[in-house]
Amino acid sequence: MSLAYSIKNIPKQIFINNEYVESKNSKKLSVYNPVDGSLIADDIALAGEEDVDAAVAAAEKAFDGWKKTSPTERRNIMLKFAELVEQNAEDIARLTRVSLGAPYKAFGAFEIGLCAETFRYNAGFIDKFGGESWPQDDGFLKIVRNEPLGVTAGIVPWNGPIGTIGLKAAPALATGNCFILKPSEKTPLSSLALGTLIKEAGFPPGVFQILSGDGSTGAIIASHMRIRKVSFTGSIPTGKKIQEMAAKSNLKRVTLELGGKSPAVVFDDANLDNAVTWCANAITANTGQVCFAASRVYVQEGIYDKFIEGYKKAMQAKKNEVGDPETDGTNIGPLVDKAQFERVTGFIERGQQGQGKLLVGGQRIGDKGFYIEPTVFTDVDPNSEIHCQEIFGPVSVVKSFKTEEEIMKLANGTDFGLMAGVFTQDINKALRVASDFESGMVGVNCVSLMFGTTPFGGSKQSGLGRECGIYALRAFTEPKTIMINLTY
Ligand code: NAD
Repeated sequence: MSLAYSIKNIPKQIFINNEYVESKNSKKLSVYNPVDGSLIADDIALAGEEDVDAAVAAAEKAFDGWKKTSPTERRNIMLKFAELVEQNAEDIARLTRVSLGAPYKAFGAFEIGLCAETFRYNAGFIDKFGGESWPQDDGFLKIVRNEPLGVTAGIVPWNGPIGTIGLKAAPALATGNCFILKPSEKTPLSSLALGTLIKEAGFPPGVFQILSGDGSTGAIIASHMRIRKVSFTGSIPTGKKIQEMAAKSNLKRVTLELGGKSPAVVFDDANLDNAVTWCANAITANTGQVCFAASRVYVQEGIYDKFIEGYKKAMQAKKNEVGDPETDGTNIGPLVDKAQFERVTGFIERGQQGQGKLLVGGQRIGDKGFYIEPTVFTDVDPNSEIHCQEIFGPVSVVKSFKTEEEIMKLANGTDFGLMAGVFTQDINKALRVASDFESGMVGVNCVSLMFGTTPFGGSKQSGLGRECGIYALRAFTEPKTIMINLTY
């Protein structure tokens, strides 16, 4: 079975109660192709209040049946969905690519695999997340049930629209919640196209729904009195607003996966080639539009010159991988849109006015579309914006350091805390530094990677709560304690 929609017949309607329906809102979304800035469509549904209410009503109606669906049946539906996503991988990826610009082999295939695998992983947990019990030695048997929350929602960004669905929808649905997805206004097409697969997999009406929209739709969801949880991935300012809306409405539970400015610390004794390769790949994957990209690279004095030589070469070579995402051999596409292009080039221009020394890149590639050279600044002022702020493009800053103490202070001297990497062959140093990083995730001799089995998320302002592993299931459930009196 294939998707009902494709690049030639793009989905424009929202998916409620297992049907594609027109949005009740007259406003529409416009979607553009970043390869040349051309308009793909200007009539994509933008869900408004009535649409969100309709989805919530359908989800509430479905909730009791879904949470009581046998674990085997729920598992089978989720496994079937994973299979369908994989079977339709190329079409789904194309619907993302047309407005994100990310090539299939380098990115589309990865995020679709992540989505399918996350559904399988969480499906496998359904009959293994049963709760706990505590013995009746004191006369009371205590049973702890992991209960679903009810109607839950995911508000997601544009930089990995399908992978993010796996991280949020899969644990929500596995634990018996109903789930409403709100994709980014920049990349709604592939998410909307999933409707036919949701239905074919066997999800009952109302269990898994998709509402395309922009920030206004997100705000309606975050403020909704009958949505019990929002799992959000996006920028820190929006994350803060979501938490505030959640608190001011019904104190809905919130998981926040936010931005980063992740450090990679390369010590003198590091394997140079390994450090260079990881650092260059980390900042160019998905054109640097990755929340956990290693965008601050700190290199110890003894290895600095050699590292710079290798990193410069690697980043220059990356330029040859930039191109049309439809062409074989392209690993790096354009930035997502004009706004992102202006944001990134703005940082690069201001960066050259005294914030640091441009080592490589810095130029636009071509004269159409939103292509940018992989870019590195050295000798950066630690107080400058290119050193301190998330750029969200293929732009890194490099700085040399003398001592571990000095560099840990600088690495941690930020409000971000998503990812960090340490490169050294000294296991003691590696473990000491890994424990000293104020960061949700740390790589040793690697950086900017994730696993579906282990907690994913940030400390400090990079986030709240964790996705992946058993932590995701906990984030979509609440323990209920039942106390049984055995003494009367
Ligand atoms: P964004 O915050 O602008 O938007 C994210 C989502 O929130 C979109 O769906 C958008 O429509 C919605 N939204 C916007 N305003 C809203 C509001 N007032 N109320 C409710 N919803 C609203 O972020 P973006 O530009 O799409 O994504 C880039 C950011 O996401 C970067 O900062 C990046 O680091 C971060 N990110 C984090 C992770 C992570 O897992 N930590 C992963 C990917 C991206």
